[in-house]
Amino acid sequence: MANDDRAIEAKGSEADAPTTSGPATASEETSAEASLRGGTVIARALKRQGVEHMFGIVGYPVYGVAAAAQKEGINYVGFRNEQAASYAAGAVGFLTGRPGACLAVSGPGMVHGIAGLANAQSNCWPMLLLAGANETYIDGRGAFQESPQVEFSRPYTKYAARPDSLERVPFFVEQAVRSSIYGRPGAAYIDLPSDIIEGKVPAEDVDFPGRCADPPAPTADATDIQAALDLLRGAERPLVIVGKGAAYGRAEDEVRAFIEATQLPFLPTPMGKGVIPDSHPLSVAPARSFALREADVVFLIGARFNWILHFGRPPRLADHPRVIQLDIAAEEISTNIPTEVALVGDARRIVGQLNSAIEAEPFTFAADAPWRCALEESSSANSAAVRAMMEDTSEPMGYYRALEDIRKQLPENVVLVAEGANTMDISRTVLPNEGPRTRLDAGSYGTMGVGSGFAIAAASVHRDRPVVAIQGDSAFGFSGMEVEVACRYGLDITWIVINNNGIGGGVEELNPDMPEFSCYTPRANYERVMEAFGGTGYYVDTIADLGPTVARALADEGPSLVNVIIDPKAARKPQKHAWLSR
Ligand code: ADP
Ligand code: MG
Repeated sequence: MANDDRAIEAKGSEADAPTTSGPATASEETSAEASLRGGTVIARALKRQGVEHMFGIVGYPVYGVAAAAQKEGINYVGFRNEQAASYAAGAVGFLTGRPGACLAVSGPGMVHGIAGLANAQSNCWPMLLLAGANETYIDGRGAFQESPQVEFSRPYTKYAARPDSLERVPFFVEQAVRSSIYGRPGAAYIDLPSDIIEGKVPAEDVDFPGRCADPPAPTADATDIQAALDLLRGAERPLVIVGKGAAYGRAEDEVRAFIEATQLPFLPTPMGKGVIPDSHPLSVAPARSFALREADVVFLIGARFNWILHFGRPPRLADHPRVIQLDIAAEEISTNIPTEVALVGDARRIVGQLNSAIEAEPFTFAADAPWRCALEESSSANSAAVRAMMEDTSEPMGYYRALEDIRKQLPENVVLVAEGANTMDISRTVLPNEGPRTRLDAGSYGTMGVGSGFAIAAASVHRDRPVVAIQGDSAFGFSGMEVEVACRYGLDITWIVINNNGIGGGVEELNPDMPEFSCYTPRANYERVMEAFGGTGYYVDTIADLGPTVARALADEGPSLVNVIIDPKAARKPQKHAWLSR
């Protein structure tokens, strides 16, 4: 029988798949390792490159990869949808600096995983998608789940490849991992045809390259360091913006030392929060709009002038502020507005260079500068407006009141996941981040549905820390079934669903003839989803119950879910100008 005929016969349906592709594969490895199976070669190569977490769903033809991953000491977590698994893989990249892996079956499984590729690539996070594929030798015949997967992945990856032989798999894995963490971090894809996964090679024919070194961390030219400090020294209204590139680059000690030495006001981006504690007196987060609009010199540290920072343009920013830009990616410099001083390289090392230069020639932004007073005024005005909403005693609760009562219960070392439009935006103001890489949210790609995967990733990486996922009811709905994963693996995650009956709010009762297009089932019992799998669920609709219930949920062993019913008409703080909410 010709090779491809055998394969075609084998793949009539998933049930007919060759037995070697089923769960039994794991135990089949020859004990002396005279020969290695494909799954083992793949898993060993990943482990060698520092890939510690793999999230996925098995099926033909990737059973053997998951089984081997477990055997090789990779933390394999079986998910319910590849989409959530792929988001989780990206979050591992952000939290650890080495890519998390997502394992998917061919075709539709791989397509679901593209969501995570796009999300990771957009956030500049390393991740690896590995997907099964039909045998190399039946391409084009209409094989089971056959699809152009390398092409699908191309626009969302820095690296995408299909290994040409089992022997060379470790070479491709090393390239993928290295590409994902060197330079600007991003996503990588490896296509795994079933004949490679199920193949066998003599052990001596496989060469496993050593772990690729941590990424090069370039420093800046001394003259540029001076130019940056000169520009800051001459500024009347300087502003430092700390982005998630600073968080990813583990620049927290250096950035904090820089801010404290210079006494410059700083503004964190959503996931730059915590690089310097939010409680730091030099944070001007409460005066965000004012600070951005009035600053004359802006120093970006690992942040982009994309939509999150309003493209660096009016009306949200001044017309052409002078810009100092620190970024690992040279091609990012001058995006949207011209950069005056470019510091291309690693945030930790370059801010370290700035600190050394300041030590030699101290520079402190004046304590009595009018800019400082103006920022303080704007901060206190905004804080007062928000405080009133936090103390609001009316029921059903609004966002501010609910989040404020939740805040009071959060443990100090919590890792926070936040998503949902209003839930996420308001949580950014109300819930502080005191440590770096303690906030995960919809990010640069504005992705809804990331929360459950992110929470599982955070709990996998931080076995010793509580993880709290605060999600709108809509956001939770995208991947709510993933709570089963947390129950199965005993992960200490507390879900808090801020339930307003829909997308941007809902109704008290649905119109039965034509349900409102943006509304979901009113007062849905999301806590029962958690209970279905052995976790603890709570339903809260009063202020009196909220704090104590969240405290109880946090104290529970294993996962729990608090379903918080809020006002379906609750809204954000009214903005001064319409363009502020665009
Ligand atoms: P934010 O959403 O916080 O503004 P972005 O994801 O838009 O953050 O920008 C982060 C930037 O940080 C990217 O342009 C990326 O190239 C850069 N970056 C990533 N790692 C480092 C690093 N180690 N040092 C400096 N910049 C980095
Ligand atoms: Mg909602």
